[in-house]
Amino acid sequence: TNANGFTDYFDLDGLLTEEHILVRQSIRDFVKKEINPNIERWAQEGHFPSEIVRKFGDVGAFGPTIPTEYGGGGLDYISYGLIMQEIERGDSGMRSTASVQGSLVMFPIYQYGSEEQRKKYLPKLASGEWLGCFGLTEPDHGSNPGGMTTNIKDMGDYYLLNGAKLWISNSPECQVAVVWAKNEEGRIKGLIVERGMEGFTTPEIHNKWSLRASCTGELVFDNVKVPKENLLPNIDGLKGPLGCLDSARFGIAWGAIGAAIDCYESALKYSLQREQFGKPIASFQLQQKKLAEMITEITKAQLMAWRLGVLKNEGKATSAQISMAKRNSVDMALHIAREARQIHGGMGITGEYPMMRHMMNLESVITYEGTHDIHLLITGADITGIQAFK
Ligand code: FAD
Repeated sequence: TNANGFTDYFDLDGLLTEEHILVRQSIRDFVKKEINPNIERWAQEGHFPSEIVRKFGDVGAFGPTIPTEYGGGGLDYISYGLIMQEIERGDSGMRSTASVQGSLVMFPIYQYGSEEQRKKYLPKLASGEWLGCFGLTEPDHGSNPGGMTTNIKDMGDYYLLNGAKLWISNSPECQVAVVWAKNEEGRIKGLIVERGMEGFTTPEIHNKWSLRASCTGELVFDNVKVPKENLLPNIDGLKGPLGCLDSARFGIAWGAIGAAIDCYESALKYSLQREQFGKPIASFQLQQKKLAEMITEITKAQLMAWRLGVLKNEGKATSAQISMAKRNSVDMALHIAREARQIHGGMGITGEYPMMRHMMNLESVITYEGTHDIHLLITGADITGIQAFK
């Protein structure tokens, strides 16, 4: 660890500003106080702590890059990445709540919304008064969201919304949903749907083995009358939801490194304390190999995330670069969670240590926001010019 107490083998802190370091520290303190002492219980009980929403708002975890006039943090993308990293060091489910709110709900309202929509929704979402969700995936359309069948019909005074979304983070507790649906011409449009609209329900998905402290559900639209002013006016087509996903995937590329660091730090500490054959297990070459490979992979991912953050700040990060970083970070973290679990031996399977929870969480993270396979095919298409997934 460096002088600030962070796992930082290549002195990345030397590339950060004072503001970055302060933001990271405040989120780390928050996670230590509000998440770490409770997360194991929440996850074991499958409990989403709804009071965390307001607390996230207070600490500035929602929409950190949104301008301050709308209640956001007005911060840069490296700060955003560091915030996601510290939250996910605590738990990927908690980070999912913050990612969805910031990147998938506030971002589209800010980027594609009218001034009235920005003023109406963003401050309440930033403060955590309202929780939002993002409805893209459908029961029959996951990796291929362009095939969606959820639809709107123009009824003159309002849009009539019908269809269903599945696997929607935050849905059971949301006040607001950003929903993607096709109009009569088959164009994808974004709408803001509010709880309480007749015909709109959000059944919860139970019995997940992953992201157990995050709530996940469906969005069901049965002839929902959505006022015309709830359509996001400044976007048309699949690039709308994909733009949001770029922002969320960027956060995951940083966030998953947090989960990896938590597993690595636990494994390093345990290996120095646990003795077998009269020596700490850290003195055996096989355990050192695991630990040395972990810190190498974490460092590579940190460097990629940092460079991606610089490009994102300059408006130059491509979707394909974000795909590569998301895929690499999550795969790296999942592998480290498994290796770290082994270093803890039998103890590693209990809730005394965080690895199993991170590992199970990361099984969702490797699938949502574009699967491991699809991101590889995006890299493949980018370098060859040939799309292999359509
Ligand atoms: P499928 O698309 O059916 O894929 C199944 C398998 O086939 C995968 O391994 C995939 O890689 C592979 N595959 C598919 N197409 C190809 C291809 N062309 N070539 C090669 N392999 C292929 N969605 C939202 O809209 N909002 C949310 O808030 C949200 N939260 C989520 C939370 C959780 C806990 C989970 C698990 C999912 C969430 N999702 C959300 C949905 C998530 O984005 C989808 O699960 C994901 O996009 C994959 O879709 P699918 O599950 O339908 O799998």
